[in-house]
Amino acid sequence: MLLLYVNPLLSPMSKAAGNVFVVVAPSGAGKSSLVNALLAQDPKLCLSVSATTRAPRSGETDGKDYRFVSKDEFVAMRQNNQLLEWAEVHGNFYGTPRDQIEQAIHQGRDILLEIDWQGARQVKRLFAQTIGIFILPPSIQTLEQRLQQRGQDSQAVIARRIEAASEEIMHAPEFEYVIINQDFRIALAELAEVVAVARLRYNSQSAKNEGLFASFGLTT
Ligand code: 5GP
Repeated sequence: MLLLYVNPLLSPMSKAAGNVFVVVAPSGAGKSSLVNALLAQDPKLCLSVSATTRAPRSGETDGKDYRFVSKDEFVAMRQNNQLLEWAEVHGNFYGTPRDQIEQAIHQGRDILLEIDWQGARQVKRLFAQTIGIFILPPSIQTLEQRLQQRGQDSQAVIARRIEAASEEIMHAPEFEYVIINQDFRIALAELAEVVAVARLRYNSQSAKNEGLFASFGLTT
């Protein structure tokens, strides 16, 4: 079951300097590796660290990969209006903390969210400048192999994730860009290209170069 909540008190923000990138993929498509490699080579991009009630996998660090919280802490975050959106995915709760994304946008920094398709839909509604990127695996068999090789989830969890993957993939048409992660280096280069192109959009350029645009009599 998948539940989703969106903070109704937030009004849509259309004019802001920072770009919002939402990267969505089924488990095992290589999303986190791609995103981590992108962040390592692009200091202007920051990551939205989600809160989750899921247990940490080996190698995951609290505050870097996720904010790992108890169910009670998650409920408190929800009640205190600290989450922009939240969802129940694979039996665990996940949510986007509101402060870091709003701060980044207002400071003109670009922020990337690794969330599920329902969260992406809501974020797009809240931030008009959102760019949606969907990562596809080269085949469903590759997806299964990758989940098995990762060795971090039980067989039952893997089976559930593969089933969910097909559902997630059905939402790829909702995204502006699709990257097929067959060759990691090519996929990373394509991801970086999408980010670079998004930064050249009129709204992004005019917000970041207000003085220059005004000097030409251009609207910002
Ligand atoms: P995982 O447990 O494999 O790290 O993530 C499971 C799913 O939850 C992935 O599709 C991931 O993108 C999604 N997810 C992670 N954080 C968030 C969040 O803050 N909000 C939403 N809606 N989904 C999230």
